[in-house]
Amino acid sequence: MATKRLYYADSYLRDFQANAVGDVADSNRIYLDQTAFYPTSGGQPHDLGTLNGIPIEDVVDEGDQIAHVLRSPLKGSTVSGAIDWERRYDHMQQHTGQHLLSAVCDQMLNAATLSFHMGSEVSTIDLQLKELSEAQLSALEEQVNEAARGSSCVTVSFEEAESAAGLRKQSDRSGTLRIVNIDHYDRSACGGTHVRNLSEVLPMQLRRTEKMRGNIRLEFACGQRAIRLARKDLRTLSQLARLAGTPFDQTLDHFTTLRQRLTDAEKERQRLEKHLAEREGRDLYNASSPSADGLRRLCQRVARIDEAQRSKAQAYLSQSKAGILLLSPDSVLIGFSPDSGLNAGAVLKQTIAGCGGSGGGSPTLAQGKLTGGMGEQTLAEAGGFRLPCDNLQE
Ligand SMILES: [Zn+2]
Repeated sequence: MATKRLYYADSYLRDFQANAVGDVADSNRIYLDQTAFYPTSGGQPHDLGTLNGIPIEDVVDEGDQIAHVLRSPLKGSTVSGAIDWERRYDHMQQHTGQHLLSAVCDQMLNAATLSFHMGSEVSTIDLQLKELSEAQLSALEEQVNEAARGSSCVTVSFEEAESAAGLRKQSDRSGTLRIVNIDHYDRSACGGTHVRNLSEVLPMQLRRTEKMRGNIRLEFACGQRAIRLARKDLRTLSQLARLAGTPFDQTLDHFTTLRQRLTDAEKERQRLEKHLAEREGRDLYNASSPSADGLRRLCQRVARIDEAQRSKAQAYLSQSKAGILLLSPDSVLIGFSPDSGLNAGAVLKQTIAGCGGSGGGSPTLAQGKLTGGMGEQTLAEAGGFRLPCDNLQE
C-alpha cells in the first residue's frame, strides 16, 4: 500500500493521525497509510519528530512507501505523528530559497543548477559556470533579496508532464508532476517542502564560492540560519579585533602587516640559524684532532638532519682533511672534504648495497636511510669513524 504524502499538499502540517500498515510488532521500521514526515530526497534531509512519542531517527523514501525508522518499537497500530517543526521550517526556507536562487542564476548568469545539497549549517548549489566574481556574487545577493521582498506566492500544482509548460528544468519523469510555482520567478518539478510566501526566506545570504570539477559551488543560507551565521561570523571578527587590539575596521590591515612581519622574521631566523650552524661547524673542526690517517673526524647523533645540520656539516667539511658522520633516528649524513681521499657517496652506496636502505649524494656529501640493523656500524667503519657517538645534539 502506497503511503499518502501529506506534505505534498500542506507543508505546514505539523501533527497528524495515521494507521500503521503491516505487522508493527517489535519493529523499528514503520509504514503508515499516510504521513507528514518528509523522507531524505532531492537534496533535502529527512524530518525528525515522534510517532506516539517515540523519536524518529530516519525517514526513507522507498518509492511507493515511506519507511519511518524509530528509536524503539511502536506500540499499537493507531499513530499520532508530530514533526520537529523548527527543523522542518528551516528546511522549507532553505529549499524555497534554493529554487529562487537557481531561477535568478538562470536569468542573470544563464547558469543552470546542476545539483543542490542542504547541509546542517549551510547549503550549496553547483552552477554550470566557469567563474563567479565578487561583484557578480554581490549583485546576485542583492537580486535574490529584492525578489524575496516582493512577497511572491509559492504554490503547488499537479500537472501532466506532457502539458506542463515553462519549467526551469525539463523533468525526466512522466505522468503527473508536482510543480512548485514561485509567482513571477520559477516553476520547477519538485517533491520538497516549501514556504507559502517568498518573503519567508528572508534574509538570503550568499556566503562564498568554490571551483568544483569545472563548475562553481555556491554556498548560501536563508532565514534564521543566515542571521545565526552572520552573528557567528561577527563574533569571530570581534574576537580577532580584540586580539589584535585594533578598531574593527582596521583588523584586516593589522593581520596583513602581522603576516608580513612573521614572514620577514622567519627568513631572518633561518639566516641566523644557518650562520650559527656554520660557526658551530668551524668550531667543532678547530676543537677536533686528527686521527692516524690525518683526517679530523666528527661523529654525532642528532634529533633530525635538517638544513641547519647540513650547514654545520658543510662548514666542517670546508676545512682541510675533514670527515663528518651525522646519525639521526631516521636518516644518516656522511661527508668528506675534497682533499680527504675518501668518497662519501661511494661509502654510503656500498653500505646500502650490503645492509639495505636508500639514498646517495656526491663525493663530499651524501644522505640516506639505512634499514638493516648493522647499517650504522658498517657505514661508520667504512668511513673510519668510531661508534658509539652518542652525544645527542638538538
Ligand atoms: Zn526543489
